[in-house]
Amino acid sequence: MPVSCSSCGEKRAMLKRPKTGHSLCKDCFFMAFEEEVHQTIVNASLFKSGETVAIAASGGKDSTVLAHVMKVLNERYNYGLELMLISVDEGITGYRDDSLETVKRNQQQYELPLKIVSYEELYGWTMDAIVKQVGRKNNCTFCGVFRRQALDRGALMLKVDKICTGHNADDVAETVLMNVLRGDIARLRRCTTISTASEGEGVVPRCKPLKYAYEKEIVLYAYFKKLDYFSTECIYSPNAYRGYARTFLKDLESIRPSSIVDIIHSGENLSVREGVKMPVQGTCSRCGYISSQALCKSCVLLEGLNRGLPKLGIGKHHRLHGKILSQQPLTEKEERKLKSVES
Ligand code: SF4
Ligand code: ZN
Repeated sequence: MPVSCSSCGEKRAMLKRPKTGHSLCKDCFFMAFEEEVHQTIVNASLFKSGETVAIAASGGKDSTVLAHVMKVLNERYNYGLELMLISVDEGITGYRDDSLETVKRNQQQYELPLKIVSYEELYGWTMDAIVKQVGRKNNCTFCGVFRRQALDRGALMLKVDKICTGHNADDVAETVLMNVLRGDIARLRRCTTISTASEGEGVVPRCKPLKYAYEKEIVLYAYFKKLDYFSTECIYSPNAYRGYARTFLKDLESIRPSSIVDIIHSGENLSVREGVKMPVQGTCSRCGYISSQALCKSCVLLEGLNRGLPKLGIGKHHRLHGKILSQQPLTEKEERKLKSVES
């Protein structure tokens, strides 16, 4: 027997909301989903009227739903924002080239300006070329570090006030778990904040309007709205550690759906004891980007790539790396050690 929508009581329920278990018709689900994002935006005062906001668009479900919902809410509630799309082209044949086609279609559908920044033009390296040199083990380290900076550089070129990203509740909960497992207090503290203030010259503040939106609901929203998105995984995606955290989270969610939001709340409520040493934020002496070391991670990784020492920025060989980066000669023993690390 058809169940009627528990919100309007009129139309037929088409789905059971993963977050609350309510049976809803399509329209009531759209409304509930959009209103929750609106509440997130209002409660955290994410935007101010008159701001230019770049939506980081990958063509995937999260950023496509984000772009759609931001456009709807901006009109419905008169946020007064000027929206645009910004995409990063990592240079991954068979993946990013196809997903960028989706972003270009989204640009037409949503009538938003689009800026694409590529690793090739910013760093002189595509991910295809990086994987050729480093193999498939640490590729995501390069990609993640480069992406962060690429988005900032693109945002600076566009002169936007803010960037918003499609990180959803599942992503945030996964990151909380991973930072707990790694004991990374500095990241643990940062990963649940909904927006990062501009901490240094040249860094554009970021926010996550979908922070409390469940991945399952994002998929349902995109499906019922018939949004045009790209759903293939990156061909270089090994990220095993995140994969385990993800599987663990999905298992928890199947037993208790509130687990996702509970983990986020746990992360939000953790406080760090006074006197615990935190990295001090400074700027990179080479490119001027924010960094807690003399050289930012991106410059170290790039230096390694350009010298044929791709492991330079990975792992813990700081003393040797310091010497190389400051162009001091290595002893024979150090040369041997370095070769053994790189081979
Ligand atoms: Fe980059 Fe790794 Fe993501 Fe692929 S899976 S886009 S290599 S971070
Ligand atoms: Zn740098």
